[in-house]
Amino acid sequence: MTLDSILEEIKKADKIVILTHENPDGDAVASSLSMKIALKELGKEADVIMDECPKTYRFLPEAKNIKKETEIEEYDLAISVDASDLKRVAGGSRYFETAKRKIVIDHHSSNTMFGDYNFVNPVSPACCEIILEMLKYFNIDIKTELGTCIICGIITDTGGFQYSGVNAETFEFAAELLRTGVNIPQVYKKALKTKTKSSFELTRLATERMEFLEDGKITFTYINCEDEKRVNAQEGDHEGIVEEGRDIEGVEVSIFIREKEGANGYKVSLRSNEYVNVADVALMLGGGGHIRAAGCFIAGNVEEVKNKIITEIKQVI
Ligand code: 5GP
Ligand code: MN
Repeated sequence: MTLDSILEEIKKADKIVILTHENPDGDAVASSLSMKIALKELGKEADVIMDECPKTYRFLPEAKNIKKETEIEEYDLAISVDASDLKRVAGGSRYFETAKRKIVIDHHSSNTMFGDYNFVNPVSPACCEIILEMLKYFNIDIKTELGTCIICGIITDTGGFQYSGVNAETFEFAAELLRTGVNIPQVYKKALKTKTKSSFELTRLATERMEFLEDGKITFTYINCEDEKRVNAQEGDHEGIVEEGRDIEGVEVSIFIREKEGANGYKVSLRSNEYVNVADVALMLGGGGHIRAAGCFIAGNVEEVKNKIITEIKQVI
């Protein structure tokens, strides 16, 4: 069984690195930290490497030990969490490629199974939920710190237990974590309800610019680098903007594009409400994701990028 092999590999390894996707969101950060804490329970130290950790998630246990890089050339074991393919593994992909053994833990249906061992469940609403299942299988005691990370990933990737992927198990896990002393209301407030001032300013700009297309079934808005500089935006401050469009009555697809510095193009975020499979749309455009939340990168200026996306969506809306 994959999980037995994963545990074996962990036990054998000395130098372990944990990696996740670029622009890490709550589930990415929380999955990485959950793994680090769990490995400690197994008597192993591990490096967590990622791009800048968004300020919102720096309250999580062990967040202060996240690194941007290390001097280690070759790890015994690399564990990738919440990333669908090697291209998505942030700046750390070199650590993944050079590692002697590779483990992939993820919940994207587009996962390319790029590890030696892949523990992937596309039905799971958060990577943290898969990690919890795995840790229970390993008989690891879920103490408050570990539980706090796990619930943070579940809360952020389900939009606070709102999205369709949420199942009875999600609530059972939440109840279990509550019993172990995890302060769910506090995590909920910190991870989901608290915005930085710059995030508020960016959201205001983006909503002012929002356009309604196709009889109000599509919303489109954008942010460029200049906007981010003006409001002094930091990593993660754009999170939540795409949901503004999605939450408007009559809207099926919300599109938010954000200029990627030095890349001559835009990072695209797509969300849908009921019937458009945005993972398919993103896949057509070179990206991927989930049925109701997906993304990709498209080269060009705002108009060019917008036209490319709208052309794809018009075929399915
Ligand atoms: P977000 O819009 O929050 O950046 O991403 C939504 C979902 O789409 C996430 O599950 C994320 O992993 C996935 N996603 C976003 N951008 C890309 C991309 O460029 N490639 C792939 N494969 N998935 C992406
Ligand atoms: Mn996730």
